[in-house]
Amino acid sequence: MIFVLVYAKIWYTHVYVFLWGRPYRQNHMREAWMGSDGSNKEGMTGLHRVCLAVSWIVVFVIAAVFLVGQCVFKHNEFRGGRMGYLDGEWTYESTQGKTGTTTLPARLDLDLGEGVTFKTTLPDDIRDGMYLCLSVGKNMRVYIDGNLRMSHDFSDSELPGRVVKNAFFTLEISSLDRGKTIEIVRDEPGAFNRYLYEVRYGELYSIYSDLKKEYLFKFLMSTILFLDGVLVCIGVAILNIVFKVTNEPLKYLGFGTIAVSVWLITDSYMYSLFFENTYVDGVVSYMVAPIMAIPFFLYMNEIMEHRYENVCTMSMASLLLIDVVTTILHFTDIMSYGLTRPISNAMIGLTAIMLFVTIIKDHILGYSKKYKWIEVGILVMIVCTAIELLEVNLHIMTLNGLFLIIGLYFLLGTALVHSVRELIKTENERKSVIEANRVKSTFLANMSHEIRTPINSIMGMNEMILRENKDPDIAEYADHIKRSGKLLLSIIGEVLDLSKIEAGKLDIKSNPYNTANFIAETIGFLSEHAAEKGLEVKLDIEEEIPAVMEGDENHIKQILINLITNACKYTHEGQIGLRMYAEKSDELSAKERIFAFEVSDTGIGIKRENLGKLFDSFTRLDEKKNSGIQGTGLGLNIVKSLVEAMHGKVEVSSSYGIGSVFSVRIPQTVISEEPIEDSWRTLVTVDKQESYTATFTAPEAKILVVDDNASNLMIIRQLLKETKINIELADNGDEAIDLATTRRFDLFLLDHMMPHPDGLTVLKTIRANEHGINYRTPAIVLTANAVGNSRDEYLKYGFDDYLSKPVDGLSLEQMVMKYLPKNKIVQGDNGSKDADASNASATGTTGEAIANEQATKASEGSYDANFSKVAKMFGDENFALEVMNKVATDTLKHLDKMKSDLMIERYDDYVICAHAIKGMMASVYQEGLRARAKEHESAGKDGRYDYIKADFESFCRDCTDFCNIVLERKRD
Ligand code: ADP
Repeated sequence: MIFVLVYAKIWYTHVYVFLWGRPYRQNHMREAWMGSDGSNKEGMTGLHRVCLAVSWIVVFVIAAVFLVGQCVFKHNEFRGGRMGYLDGEWTYESTQGKTGTTTLPARLDLDLGEGVTFKTTLPDDIRDGMYLCLSVGKNMRVYIDGNLRMSHDFSDSELPGRVVKNAFFTLEISSLDRGKTIEIVRDEPGAFNRYLYEVRYGELYSIYSDLKKEYLFKFLMSTILFLDGVLVCIGVAILNIVFKVTNEPLKYLGFGTIAVSVWLITDSYMYSLFFENTYVDGVVSYMVAPIMAIPFFLYMNEIMEHRYENVCTMSMASLLLIDVVTTILHFTDIMSYGLTRPISNAMIGLTAIMLFVTIIKDHILGYSKKYKWIEVGILVMIVCTAIELLEVNLHIMTLNGLFLIIGLYFLLGTALVHSVRELIKTENERKSVIEANRVKSTFLANMSHEIRTPINSIMGMNEMILRENKDPDIAEYADHIKRSGKLLLSIIGEVLDLSKIEAGKLDIKSNPYNTANFIAETIGFLSEHAAEKGLEVKLDIEEEIPAVMEGDENHIKQILINLITNACKYTHEGQIGLRMYAEKSDELSAKERIFAFEVSDTGIGIKRENLGKLFDSFTRLDEKKNSGIQGTGLGLNIVKSLVEAMHGKVEVSSSYGIGSVFSVRIPQTVISEEPIEDSWRTLVTVDKQESYTATFTAPEAKILVVDDNASNLMIIRQLLKETKINIELADNGDEAIDLATTRRFDLFLLDHMMPHPDGLTVLKTIRANEHGINYRTPAIVLTANAVGNSRDEYLKYGFDDYLSKPVDGLSLEQMVMKYLPKNKIVQGDNGSKDADASNASATGTTGEAIANEQATKASEGSYDANFSKVAKMFGDENFALEVMNKVATDTLKHLDKMKSDLMIERYDDYVICAHAIKGMMASVYQEGLRARAKEHESAGKDGRYDYIKADFESFCRDCTDFCNIVLERKRD
């Protein structure tokens, strides 16, 4: 009653809170349903705790009731029936006259082939519908009171060889058989007939339940083991196929588990209850027995890291041999499995001992610490196998694989623990490798910055010495400094390249490039290096190479530079050969070609045994012979990584002392099929150290250079001195921002790493104001930070280009010339052609685009000339100024629109803008820009989008330059 009242109270309070959401007297009641924030993180109420505790008690009581019922008070009306054993005294008489009495199980001392008759009296409690159940493994006849009631002749089996395993057979008996004499005759020729294990009698269902009690548990455990093995194998296959991870040990463990479970299942007496053929199980279990140990040897071989592979191989060979030989003997009926069993078991035992010895040796040597769980598992498994073997051979007890099952489960458990620990360890190692790599990359980035900054000063100042000095001795010293500086930079470059490759940051780009230019530059590099060592150059450039191809020109160049540098480095006399050709391949589409290069030399060559390690990182060969040659052993490793990243191949053939040939084959897409013939010849230039003359002058141009390092500012100013450009210097970001808001510049050169604000912030601030006077001024970043995909990163930030420190005089000039308004540049006599050529290849424009760009330059008059033409046409200078101003503002707007159209590939709109610009440029007599706008318009209409993509940047820049001049004039 009290219980009912308390229960009702609890429910009333809770339902109240649930329905009305407000507390019933006590505040905390609401929290029983819901926490103050809608959750219930506050903790459990007392009632909640009580409920949990009671739930557990109920669970335990249920389990206890079930177990006590099953194990102590057995009571099953459903089974009913009776069952007993003919376990009284039996008499026997053999064909050789041996007689006596025995009880079951009987194992008489008979010879091979000697027959025997067992006799006893049937009990009085036999009822109608009962059966005799005999475990039979040989030919047998059963007589009751002299009448033959059952006969088995195993020669009826479909398999060759004898039957080797006992199975249960039944014989119907009735109350009429009470007290009669039963005779069991076993007389199979050439076999041991001495066993009679057991004879049961009773109702069929009782016999079946009794058998189940004895054998089903082990049978089920074996079946579960089989499924475990299959699951492990499926898991390993999924890991392999989906995640490309191989786990050899686990694979072998899976196979081993399947093999042992197959043996256990086929060896079980429950087998005939579930399978269709009573004769195959014995043969299968005998065949599986020796080889089931093999996967475990392979498993241990993997775990022991192949330390005892010979022992493993010998064990495998012995087990296979015994399996094959005993099977042949059995099937040919020369010797049945039953007779060869002791030999097979001895071999299994012997190999198990060998495995045991290796584990003990590993233990003594301390290797087993790495797999201590498996060590315990495998030792238990070996002990269990030994017990099982003893039982099978000596019949001490009836185990029927129980110990094997225990051992195998134990081993699987320990292997699981081992695998989980290994996984955790690998994961931790992976994390620490990633962390170490991150630390390494950061270190390299910092080191690069720290080393490049002072080298920048050294090289810059040295360049000044070279330019201004007239003394030949000092020129020689300065030249040495220049060479050593370059070498140091190339070493830093290689280390950084390698770290980029290792960090997976190698970014392969695909842009159209002019092959003649590419070839000319490569040959220029080769000629210069070969000349330094007095080596001859032999060229073989195929005329059919397509004029424009698409691929990563810069990385291919890097590969060739590496190979050519090596060829020159390791050749003391003779010649360096360069062969280039393009060929079709069945594996490529019609639009693709293999671009192939061969760099050959008559140098020191490479020993055959060293060819294999040639491409390993930090590997230098023949160190003694090469001791005077500088190198890091990284070049070829980088070459290989680059070639493979571009889906190409690199090969080497070499004769020691005679020379080497490095061949590279890289697939590229053809943009223009037109053959280059020998057009590259006119483009080849060799970079010689001559007395310096500026490639151009631009006295009207204004540049702002920003760097916190005073010597860098000085170097840039000095390097550009001869160009007569007006250079404004700022040694911090704030000053740069102030200058940029008040004065218009044609170009910014901004250092990245400055105390706040850094170069990125300065550019962001300038570009934040769309109406600012320098909103469209191009900006080049100067940086010593050469790690990662720096260039792309900077372009993303809005920089127009990138110059790596230490800045080289010629590159700086060319870069500045590229971005200054064209009409402010006065071409110098020297080097203008070079600059154009390298400009073209640097921007990756096609031959057509290059031609157009040059046409623009040629046709552009000075601003004044154009203006006077426009003024003449309108007859009024002010109006002409208005018109040009309007054209400039509208053109800039159209260019912005074209840029966004191009980004989303909306070519219809792109064509409309190009058309508009064409008209506007015609109206202000800008013939070059008009022609280029027209070309863009027709390219858009004809679907020549590659042309648009390749030329847009340069077209946009030239138009912008023109517009900026117009707008600036207006302001002035
Ligand atoms: P290194 O900086 O040492 O030149 P590389 O990776 O470029 O590093 O080359 C690795 C090694 O291969 C060199 O140390 C050299 O022994 C050998 N090697 C490379 N190219 C040649 C060549 N053309 N002739 C002979 N040996 C070469």
